[in-house]
Amino acid sequence: MKTRQTPRFSFTIIAMAVTSSPRLAQALVRIGIHTERDVLMHFPYRYEDLTATPLGLYHDQQRLVLVGKITSTPQVFRRGTFVTLRFTMRDQHQHVMHVIAFNRPFLAKSIVPNSTITIVGKYDANKQIVHLVTFILGEVAADHPLKPIYRLPHEIPLFRFTALVKKALTVLPKLEFKTRLPQAIIQEKHLLDPMKALPIIHQPASLEAVQHAMLIFKYEEAYTFVQTMQAIRQENMATIKSHAQAIAQEAMKKVIKHLPYALTEDQQQAVDEIIGDMRARKRMYRLLQGDVGSGKTVVAALALYANYLRKQQGALMAPTDALAKQHFLTLQQLLKNLGVSVTLLVGSMSSTEKKAIKESLLNGTIDIVVGTHTLFSSDTTFFSLGLAVIDEQHRFGVNQRALLKDKGRDADLLMMSATPIPRSLAMSVYADMDISTLIQFPFSARLVKTKIVTAGDALIHYTIATALEQHQRVFVIAPKINESLHGKESVVKLFEHYQRHYPKQVVLLHGQLDAEEKDDSLKAFSQGHRPILVSTTVIEVGIDVKQASVMIIHDADSFGLASLHQLRGRIGRDGREALCLLVVQEEDKEGQERLQVLVDTNDGFKIAEADLRMRGPGELMGLRQSGVPGFQYLNLVIDQPIIQIIKNYIVKNIL
Ligand code: ADP
Ligand code: MG
Repeated sequence: MKTRQTPRFSFTIIAMAVTSSPRLAQALVRIGIHTERDVLMHFPYRYEDLTATPLGLYHDQQRLVLVGKITSTPQVFRRGTFVTLRFTMRDQHQHVMHVIAFNRPFLAKSIVPNSTITIVGKYDANKQIVHLVTFILGEVAADHPLKPIYRLPHEIPLFRFTALVKKALTVLPKLEFKTRLPQAIIQEKHLLDPMKALPIIHQPASLEAVQHAMLIFKYEEAYTFVQTMQAIRQENMATIKSHAQAIAQEAMKKVIKHLPYALTEDQQQAVDEIIGDMRARKRMYRLLQGDVGSGKTVVAALALYANYLRKQQGALMAPTDALAKQHFLTLQQLLKNLGVSVTLLVGSMSSTEKKAIKESLLNGTIDIVVGTHTLFSSDTTFFSLGLAVIDEQHRFGVNQRALLKDKGRDADLLMMSATPIPRSLAMSVYADMDISTLIQFPFSARLVKTKIVTAGDALIHYTIATALEQHQRVFVIAPKINESLHGKESVVKLFEHYQRHYPKQVVLLHGQLDAEEKDDSLKAFSQGHRPILVSTTVIEVGIDVKQASVMIIHDADSFGLASLHQLRGRIGRDGREALCLLVVQEEDKEGQERLQVLVDTNDGFKIAEADLRMRGPGELMGLRQSGVPGFQYLNLVIDQPIIQIIKNYIVKNIL
């Protein structure tokens, strides 16, 4: 066998070279970064413009970038739990400016008189003071004033990652970045070679340059995606099932009647459409879309049951182990006492276990298997696969095709997506697949109310007390695990705080706990022994606890609107009124305005749109910001023309 030509450097080399920190290395691996190449493919999601503000009359709330020397020792004042830090600096215009930071006393050690500093802040014209947003020590190079900001897990500080990027860029000439895009498109659209584009993306001179450099990656992503979708469609049209299969109506009606709840009209219609497809000779090629909490899982369960009734095996694929486990439990529950054998297949199982399951799939003793897509590798063979359901299908790629081709020539395909995008767009993006949409929520109106409050607001404790009285559960969410440089609330601190108010009622959950601790926390919470869960956004993965009726999100402004919307989708799942409190800093009026959309609407699509509209000029469009998850570089709303161009090209030249 030929060995790989591209030089690959193991992550340990990079990590060791920069830090010799195993924790950092672990965190890198967790987000899929093993090599210099991976480092370079992890793009900034926005840039902080550090161009010094020109001299002028500053207006109230103006964003200022000031460069100069610190002229006073920082002073820290405490009033109750409220801490302010103040210092002065002489800026680029020789003005002495007063700078203030809230709740970040630990900054004091970095603020050293007479050293040079670049700060980003917001000007308060009344008090003639600058509210510190962020700062870097030293001066910024005038020709590269844009500081890239990367989305990183908390174990990887930004400056560490920036150092890794710098290092990786020095070996860039030795790496090989090939694009799959046809030359014709590259030339016509004047796309940059990836080798040229990457340094620009990581060390840009202007946002325009970044936007141009990004195009090659956007086009490439569109190309892969459209190609996959078209291929699935082609194959789907080219083959018909060997025979039409009846599905016993009575049995379906019966199982629907015995569900713990009545289906919504939308769910019933989706089920009907799916079963109609499954009965036909043509293979099903359908997308089931609906906002978080619209109840897609039960529709999938019913489709899988219908498939079982026609004596075929079914597979449900989820993007993560955690989601697969949850789906497995749900299916078991919904299909219990019906004689269906449901099995879980996830990466954390032992290889003996996996082998046994794969054997049972092959000999047909398993009716339904739930797992992650990686598990449906080439050595997984079915006795007779009749239906493949793919959850969060954005995150899947070419394997879908392989799956359909190899695993079951007759298999129907149902994809599920929580991304509410308009129908016309969906049609174009998904290569004209059939679409079922869940618009209604299971409960006539989704009763999640949302309010914006400040940290000391009495409503917080009142709400918790009421919830506990009614044996409900409470989520408390914060962005960080430990105290960080940016002064965000940390879950560890909040845990201690809530623990003091509600002794023995609080559990802690975050990504650094090991699997067993996490399980314990979750169990204590969901069973109600400890009804308050203080957590980072790990719960975003999908925890379904019916009795959760309150969510308190600290530092709400540090989350994207779409994430906040996803988060609050975890409460009010039993149809009772639920309350989400977004806790913000009192003085952050702009942040409060941004969050108002969440108070005003529960419509995921509107929220995604607002998210797009409100992004500041410094933010780069299309980088996991849109509330449209799954695509790395493309923004389905903004980059629609790119998808259209690629689609036209593929239809004209390839098919
Ligand atoms: P999603 O579309 O986000 O995957 P789920 O399938 O997880 O949504 O469903 C969200 C919640 O709503 C689950 O707790 C589920 O049991 C519940 N649910 C689904 N359909 C109904 C219904 N028709 N009536 C009441 N509750 C329902
Ligand atoms: Mg779901």
